[in-house]
Amino acid sequence: MLRLQSFSVGTAWFYCGTKCLKMIGLKQYEQCNIMWLYFCRHQVLRIVAKDVTQLPLIKDLEQFTELDFWTYVNNVENPVDIRVPAHSLQYVKRYLETHGIGYSVMIEDLMVHSYNILELKHALIDGKQNSSLSVVQIYSFQDQLVAENPNLVSKIVIGQSYQGRDLNVLKFSTGGSNRPAIWIDTGIHSREWITQASSTWFAKKIVTDYGRDPALTAVLNQMDIFLEIVANPDGFVYTHTNNRMWRKTRKPNTGSSCVGVDPNRNWDAGFGGAGASSSPCNESYRGPSVHSEPEVKAIVDFVKSHGNLKAFISIHSYSQMLLYPYGYTYTPAKDKAALDSLAKTAVADLRSLYGTSYRYGSIIDTIYQASGGSIDWTYNQGIKYSFAFELRDTGRYGFNLPANQILPTAQETWLALLTIFSHVNNNPY
Ligand SMILES: [Zn+2]
Repeated sequence: MLRLQSFSVGTAWFYCGTKCLKMIGLKQYEQCNIMWLYFCRHQVLRIVAKDVTQLPLIKDLEQFTELDFWTYVNNVENPVDIRVPAHSLQYVKRYLETHGIGYSVMIEDLMVHSYNILELKHALIDGKQNSSLSVVQIYSFQDQLVAENPNLVSKIVIGQSYQGRDLNVLKFSTGGSNRPAIWIDTGIHSREWITQASSTWFAKKIVTDYGRDPALTAVLNQMDIFLEIVANPDGFVYTHTNNRMWRKTRKPNTGSSCVGVDPNRNWDAGFGGAGASSSPCNESYRGPSVHSEPEVKAIVDFVKSHGNLKAFISIHSYSQMLLYPYGYTYTPAKDKAALDSLAKTAVADLRSLYGTSYRYGSIIDTIYQASGGSIDWTYNQGIKYSFAFELRDTGRYGFNLPANQILPTAQETWLALLTIFSHVNNNPY
């Protein structure tokens, strides 16, 4: 059994507190509390296996719940990024060196890194990058969008989060009843802030471009678009108040002091299989049962009751990938050829704007085996065009993507989305 070294908490907090105060100025001590101090001297290590024999050695580190895997172990092509708390750094580095496993330090000090990035105010509403973006702001933005565009946009509440927040979905529709439709969700993993920020831009873009952009107009003349900007509101609030790197839901787990379930391991698709954890303290904890999380159940119920969704797109970050089923099994999806060809076109269109390069393929072939994921479930429900995006970047900034990348990320992603929308509209099934 591996053991991590303990660390003198008193010394650490004194060191971090002093450093934090220097960064923000003495007057704002509160801002140092929890959010910043927590990540003081945490590093993000990028680990690269040189051959397959090193993969299980890296995977062994997953047993330490204090290590936060930002990307997971799969094959030698994909580096593994891990956030390592200060007190575990020495052990982890020595472990890697002992086994001859190569690594580099991607982020030297996550507290300093987060502070520098978030000072830029990570947000985007109405194309401005100048205000912070909370759940409250996004919800009022949604209401305003509905009020200003009553003939095109409406809001549906599909359920409540564990803590009782409304799960809001924007519906973009030009008429008809129960038209074929496209679903998009962002922020189901709460720390992936670029996704909620991009999503507000998508909402505005749809309103602005309908009647102007022929491709979008053609789609909306036949189909509806549903957009859930904050799919995990409790987690999103928590990333603002307590832990910027929170990924899961906020529901307590019976018999454990660890909170939350990974809402992208909780779906009834290979639930409980490889690529999800049975430990409540793990970041990829699958939950006690399928659809145990109200945030997941609400989407499940919506998808079933709607019954006419033709595309389901779940947007994550980071890694720059466009993925399709399956994640839980090596058996290829029966529409693999069609999905692959559409993904290829979509990432080419995305790249055309700023040269951002995306990989694409099935989840299991491209990143790792992951069971209980949303798009596997929707695909098995008969939604042929089920995709997951992993937006920018490839790890230089990870979840702390700088604010000046929000707009370009949203713009380039929109091109890929529009390609998928048009293809689905032009290829009814
Ligand atoms: Zn994610």
